[in-house]
Amino acid sequence: MKSDSSTYTPIKGGSLVEVLTAQAAPKPFTYAMPEGLEVLRGQLVNVPLGTKKSYGVVLGASHETIPANKLKSIYSVVDAPPLSGAMLDFILWVADYCMAPAGNILAMVLGGESAQKTPKKERAAKKEPEAQPVQKPTLSAEQNKAAGTLIKSLGSFSVTLLDGVTGSGKTETFCEAIAAAMKQGQQSLLMLPEISLTTQIFSRLAARFGQAPVLWHSGLTPAQRRKAWQAIAHGKAPLVIGARSALFLPFQNLGLIVVDEEHDGSYKQEEGVIYHARDMAVMRGKMQNIPVILSSATPSLETIVNMKAGRYGHVTLPQRHGEAKPPSIHLIDLREEKLTSKNFISPSLQTAIHAAIGRGEQALLFLNRRGYAPLTLCRACGYRFQCPSCSSWLVEHRQDGKHRLICHHCDYACTYPRACPSCKAEDKLAACGPGIERLAEEAKKLFPNARHAILASDTQNNLNEVQRIVDAMANSEIDILIGTQIVAKGYHFPKLTVVGVIDADLGLQGGDLRAAERTFQLLYQVAGRSGRSDDKGHVYLQTTQPQHAVMQNLTKHNRDGLIDVLIKEREKFHMPPFARLATLTLSGTNHAAITNAANDLARHIPVQNGFKVLGPAPAPMPLLRGRHRQRFLIQSPKSSKIQAFLRDWLSAAKPPKSIRLHIDIDPQSFV
Ligand SMILES: [Zn+2]
Ligand SMILES: [Zn+2]
Repeated sequence: MKSDSSTYTPIKGGSLVEVLTAQAAPKPFTYAMPEGLEVLRGQLVNVPLGTKKSYGVVLGASHETIPANKLKSIYSVVDAPPLSGAMLDFILWVADYCMAPAGNILAMVLGGESAQKTPKKERAAKKEPEAQPVQKPTLSAEQNKAAGTLIKSLGSFSVTLLDGVTGSGKTETFCEAIAAAMKQGQQSLLMLPEISLTTQIFSRLAARFGQAPVLWHSGLTPAQRRKAWQAIAHGKAPLVIGARSALFLPFQNLGLIVVDEEHDGSYKQEEGVIYHARDMAVMRGKMQNIPVILSSATPSLETIVNMKAGRYGHVTLPQRHGEAKPPSIHLIDLREEKLTSKNFISPSLQTAIHAAIGRGEQALLFLNRRGYAPLTLCRACGYRFQCPSCSSWLVEHRQDGKHRLICHHCDYACTYPRACPSCKAEDKLAACGPGIERLAEEAKKLFPNARHAILASDTQNNLNEVQRIVDAMANSEIDILIGTQIVAKGYHFPKLTVVGVIDADLGLQGGDLRAAERTFQLLYQVAGRSGRSDDKGHVYLQTTQPQHAVMQNLTKHNRDGLIDVLIKEREKFHMPPFARLATLTLSGTNHAAITNAANDLARHIPVQNGFKVLGPAPAPMPLLRGRHRQRFLIQSPKSSKIQAFLRDWLSAAKPPKSIRLHIDIDPQSFV
């Protein structure tokens, strides 16, 4: 922790203090301290703001001169220890880096609407759950060695990549470091990419540590939120498991951060404050002088490059723990299979599924596309159904007895029509391509006696339903599971031996910078669901590009080979992590106004050595939720301050208020 003497000097009643409010305000405000009240720097307070109340944090004494009639007083002090100097520095650093108002970062620290209110006294009868006996698993020699390195890293800042194939026991290994931090009286934060994963790991860790971890994610009720926030702030939560927003919580005594599945795209928050939780976790670790563990079977290219440069440590778990063997990965060349435009499960894959079910094993069909069909067109006139507010096709959905067309980018939905809106022909509408509902329909026809279930990201917000299906699959009550990317993540299905990837090429389309890397990671994770116990797994990738480097390296389990190819490519084309990128997107409802504003900005692009600005050009989705979008892409050398460049630029040309500016530093998605 940074030493900061002002933290410990109380500011007394009658003086003025500078308060950062949890709002998108451009600067902190000055307030008077009422007599009899005393605060420290970092103290969370309640203040009047306009006609409303707001939470805020005391930054220090204020020397501003404010007329007495304009001066307002702090209402009250929040019952929580003051934020440390390092935490305040972290808030300001994130704001500066992400180019977001510091008050918005503070709002995340406060955990949302009034999480910091002291919970009402619980009824006396309700006792704390009793401590369970600790169930410590037996570790392999490799796990023990890896755990030893991680434990040694406690006490100061470092970043270590915990690198091991799926099923190699990474969780047990980093749990040793968490246990050691607990012993030292420190809190640990375990970050997971998906809320749905927290439920599965929760009971496992509760058993491991003999006490229930504290959960933090957007699915908590206000009461659960308050209780969790208080426990974290008062240092009474030794282990917190959370989604990306947990990174900003005001831990009293944080000693370790673990980012599980560190490569996962869900760590990037794309709305509100745009940040990458893994990168911010590394910075929090640095500012608080504590270790950060990044865990993955398919680490991101950024992490690998940092590791190769010696900035990150590297701990490997080479083998699958126990008896499990890596799955065999086979390519099915779709150009050689007999499939109609209405069928998606190739004869070769059918044979493998038949055999698995016959042996009492399970199969997983993977397709990263929700709904029934991604495109509906009129066979009479060629009309295609498009969302009125977005540049995207409407997706047919048939679930729950409702036959609808839905936009996956906004809330638009309508009943599936009988007639074509263009040529009025009836019963001429055709579904093009598969979504998982259509795939499930085909699987039911092909395997009528098998038990089927669908697990889609639609179900994601219904944690109980996800848990029910995951449990049923784990208990062999399902023969064929059909799922989107949600099934790729971390689940353990002992009887699953056949995985069929319906469209392995799907993620390679679109020309995204990370398309190959992401496709490899996703397919590798899906493949890792199979053969996790004694039965050997087989993975079938249906592809039209069997020669693609991603497919070839997958079959050979040659992750490092593919990474080397990708690293060379990124270096050659001056792409991250060898250079920096940012996007500046303008959006608004008036197309002409957007074009004008973008052209005006283009005239003010600062000339600076090494900086390259591409655009303005229509964003890859030129219309999104009714807003037209124009985009600039900024590319600069790795050592440059891309934020300073953007600030210079935006101070020279201010777009009108009706236009929204969206700045994304280190963009991950290029929608
Ligand atoms: Zn038509
Ligand atoms: Zn839409």
